[in-house]
Order: sequence, then structure tokens, then C-alpha cells
Amino acid sequence: MTDSSPAAPPSPSLSENPSSPPKPSEKSSSGKSDSFLKKSRASGTRQAGTRPSERRKTDGGGANRTPTKNKKKPSSKKGLLFLCLILFLFILFIGCLIFGAVCNSRADWSEIPTPTSPVNGTEGTLPLPYGDGFVADMAEYEPYINPILEERDLFLVLVDGSHRLTSSDQPDRLTAVPDSDSGSGPVLLSLYAEKALEAMLTEMKAQGVGQDDPQTLALCTPTLGYRSYEEQEEDFRQVVSRLMREDPSLSQALAEDIAAASVSPPGTDEHQTGLCVDLCPPSSSAAFRKSEAFDWLCENAWKFGFILRYPEDKTEITGMAFDPGHFRYVGRFHSTTIHRLGLCLEEYLDLFEESGL
Ligand SMILES: [Zn+2]
Repeated sequence: MTDSSPAAPPSPSLSENPSSPPKPSEKSSSGKSDSFLKKSRASGTRQAGTRPSERRKTDGGGANRTPTKNKKKPSSKKGLLFLCLILFLFILFIGCLIFGAVCNSRADWSEIPTPTSPVNGTEGTLPLPYGDGFVADMAEYEPYINPILEERDLFLVLVDGSHRLTSSDQPDRLTAVPDSDSGSGPVLLSLYAEKALEAMLTEMKAQGVGQDDPQTLALCTPTLGYRSYEEQEEDFRQVVSRLMREDPSLSQALAEDIAAASVSPPGTDEHQTGLCVDLCPPSSSAAFRKSEAFDWLCENAWKFGFILRYPEDKTEITGMAFDPGHFRYVGRFHSTTIHRLGLCLEEYLDLFEESGL
């Protein structure tokens, strides 16, 4: 089965009331998200952004003034020129009105004010008018898609072989994703990521993505979210044990090195953050990549605060194989710039380091 109706509100079974978005104090008081924050390489506020360049008017007057003597003209000619000038200004005015109306009618995401870079960005992403650019009503989801300034950098945590989490690093407020299927129950995500995912899938369905292709929405089902340290540990241990059974000459250390090539060692899987989701099972990855849903997500996920975490052209930087089903929540402020500059998370965080923030 696929997602619920397009404008369906968040599931009443969820632990949080979406109409009452969490306040900064709730997050920090738990202490758990702070642990992620400490590991994040990005923090701080932004500089005031650049302003649109001032329009300049050229002044052509005064350069080639013709002497008035010997230029006496009939007053009727002056009147005609005056009328022509008035007519020209009137046409110009009407043209401006029409142009403005056309621009307004075509307002879309490309006109969203965004920082030009993570370093010289504006003081927070300007909030979008609710519903602007969306088919479905996103009002109740907006506070989760676009976290407030005090919270937005909490979602930039980097997890990989060099930035490991510990068994005590656990996201708070894990929330079940509606219409998800992990194979052993609903997929769990951190609250913000869960709400943003709900919004994204609701909008995708509302836009009719895949309605002509039953396979598309069938493929696009959340199958993996939060994954605990203990689960990673157990999966890794099983692979190491199997390798050592198959080749008794292997040392423990060598077996772990080999295992690390196929399964994440404990603490290195960013699914432990509760901020990322797999939108198809690994066995359907190839089909998902060719689906209409994948194309739509690549174009639109950033609007909901998500990024394709392991893009095909960034494997050398991420150290991970291309994974079309793995989407990571970072919040719209960051996802906007990541999308526009065509970066992966590692590259984006490097910009913060280079800026000294
Ligand atoms: Zn994944």
C-alpha cells in the first residue's frame, strides 16, 4: 500500500501534535540532540546576506543639447511631441503592469530567497507562504520542514567511518512513519524528519506522481529509518562470524576489515541519527532509480529539507556507493543550498570549516 490521502493530517497516533511545533527549549533540554550537535562540524549563525543589486538609471540628458537659437518650431509640433511622450509613458506603464502580473502568476520555487552560499547567507531562510508552490496544504508541516534558526544546525550531523556515533547517541522523539514497512514493524524517524517525510510523500502523491505507473508508488515506500547501535553491532558481528567460519585462517581484525566493506561497523551508519530514510528496499534499488518517483524526489526533495545523501557523482567524496533510495533530512535552509550548488553533505560541511564558523 502507498501513502494516505494527499491532504491528510499527520497521524493521530504520532507522539507529537503537529499543530504545536516544538520549541527550541524542548530540544536542548533533552540533551540527546545536543550530542549530535557536538559531533556536527557546522554551527553558528549566518552573516547578513547580499542584497539585490541596485538598479541604476542612465542619464542621457545634457550631453548633446542642441542650441535653441535657429531652432524655433511651431507650437503644434511641440504639442504633438508632448502627446507622443504621454502615449509612450502610458504604453510603458501598461506593459509594466502586464509583466508584473505574468511574473506573479508564474511564481514558483525558483524565486525563493535563499543564501548565495552557506557562508554569506541570509539570516535564516525566509519562510515560504504556506502552500506556495505546493498542491497539498503544507502549513502544519512547515515548522518541521524549515526549523528555526536555533535548531537548524542540529540536523547537520555527519556520520561515517571517521565520525562515529556511540551506543549512547540516540535521537529523541522517534516517531512512526505512516504507511511504512520495515519488515518488522513501522519505520521510525526523528520527529522533524518524520514530519518532513510525511509532507514530501503527501505532496508527491497530490501531484499525481506515479499515478500512471502503479510500480512507482509501490516502489516508493519507507523501508528503513532509525537503526540502533545495537542492531548495527549485531549485523556486523554476524558477518564477521560468517567470514571467520568460511575461512578459519582469518584473524578477527582482518575479518572485521573485510566485513566493513559490505556492512557498516557499529556507529558508522547514519540511520542511527533517525534523520535518514530508505524509500525502497535494497533489492528494488535499480527499479526505483528508473522510476518517476525517483526523478521527482531528485527535483523536489530539497523543498522538504531532504537531500539525496549518496549521489552517483559523489561516491569518491562520500565513500559510499550510489544509493538512490537513501534520503537524508537536513532542513530546508541547508537542503536549499546543497541542492542549488550541487553538493554532497561532506562538501557542504567543508564550506563551513573553511569559513571558520
Ligand atoms: Zn539508507
